[in-house]
Amino acid sequence: MAEARQPVIIMPENVQRILGRDAQRINIMAAKAVSEVVRSTLGPRGMDKMLVDSLGDVVITNDGVTILETMDIEHPAAKMIVEVAKAQEDEVGDGTTTATVLAGELLKRAEDLLDQDIHPAIIAQGYKVAAEKAMKIVDTLAMPVTAQDTKLLIKISRTSMNGRGTESGIDHLANLSVKAVLRVAEDGKVSDVDDIKIEKKAGGSLEDSKLIDGIVLDKERVHNGMPSLIEDAKITLLNVALEVKEPETDAQIQITSPEQIEAFLDKEEEMIKKMVSKIRNVGANVVFCQKGIDDLAQHLLAKDGVTAIRRVKKSDMTALSNATGAKIVTDIRDLKEKDLGYAKKVQEKKIAGEAMTFIEGCKDPKAVTILIRGGTDHVADEAERSLKDALKVLATALDDGKIVPGGGATEIQVGIGLNKMATHVGGRVQLAIEAFARAMDIIPRSLADNAGLNAIDLLVKAKSEHGAGKQSVGIDVFSGETKNMVDLGVIEPAKVKKQALKSASEAAMMILKIDDVIAASKISSGGPPGGMPDMGGMGGF
Ligand code: ADP
Ligand code: MG
Repeated sequence: MAEARQPVIIMPENVQRILGRDAQRINIMAAKAVSEVVRSTLGPRGMDKMLVDSLGDVVITNDGVTILETMDIEHPAAKMIVEVAKAQEDEVGDGTTTATVLAGELLKRAEDLLDQDIHPAIIAQGYKVAAEKAMKIVDTLAMPVTAQDTKLLIKISRTSMNGRGTESGIDHLANLSVKAVLRVAEDGKVSDVDDIKIEKKAGGSLEDSKLIDGIVLDKERVHNGMPSLIEDAKITLLNVALEVKEPETDAQIQITSPEQIEAFLDKEEEMIKKMVSKIRNVGANVVFCQKGIDDLAQHLLAKDGVTAIRRVKKSDMTALSNATGAKIVTDIRDLKEKDLGYAKKVQEKKIAGEAMTFIEGCKDPKAVTILIRGGTDHVADEAERSLKDALKVLATALDDGKIVPGGGATEIQVGIGLNKMATHVGGRVQLAIEAFARAMDIIPRSLADNAGLNAIDLLVKAKSEHGAGKQSVGIDVFSGETKNMVDLGVIEPAKVKKQALKSASEAAMMILKIDDVIAASKISSGGPPGGMPDMGGMGGF
């Protein structure tokens, strides 16, 4: 080994490698760039982004995760920040911008320390201690919330929808979201917000959005001769086509005479007739079919006074099954009366000139749909995104039972608490904890910046009020003053804040600890040359 003086080639030539401080600098830059993109959208007065995809479709949104997902980000460190936003969305449904901005700021503050030659491991160590302490500080601020606190829940919902281009209808949507959540809650908790179905139809205004006691389908009946209203609906759900199947393989039917054609068609007709009479015989008067319904079947069903809808989405079939108690049948021969579901009323209504089907008064009283209306598709789409978040936020709040003040108040309090703790730590780790504490300021600062306010003055004022024991003081971006956020009704689930702190600090630490970026060249034909399939061979380096 000792005399091995020749250079050892361990990687193919076209592998890109960035080492040490350079690797850190580049990764931090990329991560910061991502968080800088969304920073201007933070808070109720944040700006929106117009996203245009490769097909030219336009999305206008203020939602952090939507922006980042649409941006098609390439850099690996930047991608890690996008992951933070996604995790935040999945876990708690809100705070995606907060988490992203925090991660960027934690890295920016870390960079200052790196410039002072503080080792990244020390910074990561300090950040870890700080993040743990931060969670505890959030807990000390937390106030309880339960399903009985309707007014409080409306405020939580409202806070989460603030600034999402839905201002005009925000009170109405907040009300709807709380009503919907309370309808599906069991023992004061929501096990799955997906139980609340959302449908949207552009037209009208956000105030015209409604909570419907049942399921709404963006579908119309297949035949005009079918009744548009059925009361005491006996519903069958079919995952089978009401048409004669095409032969599946290349089987050929040899037809040599006109009589044979006739016989063949008669046979087809007979099969359809059989299916329809089976449906009638079990007593169904409404058919939801996941597949097609052919002309003859439509005609026969209409004649029998049965209403039918075809090509219903699979997810809607499941929702209908849960709501009405109907079993999804895959073979009509097996259809039995007990497989039918029930709803008080199935009705086709015209919404904005288009037919939709309302299945109301379902067997399961928890079946609810929010029908979103909005001036344009863009408004309705953004309303849907913010409503979905609000529902998730409400579920999170009820699940955890704890809320904290928004408007930067919680972050200010965390910063103050961490600074206090840092003085007991000492050494270089203390510097890292202090950097973490300073990074907290980015939230109130950005809220103020984005509202065109004097962030420095406001932050100083808010901090001094916190110093005087007013823990809930934050930035009221509408009046431009510092205010008690609880009194103002700006409140968020504690879990949203904790998750943001957790994922942001984890991502920052992960990025900090990288000192070597080894990037294989993009796979071309023939794969990587030189017999270095992956990093496994690095051991002897
Ligand atoms: P995120 O994706 O992080 O949820 P938002 O753009 O929704 O980003 O902004 C959330 C921030 O806005 C939170 O810090 C929240 O407390 C704050 N906020 C919401 N409403 C108000 C308000 N009326 N005044 C001040 N801050 C508010
Ligand atoms: Mg939000």
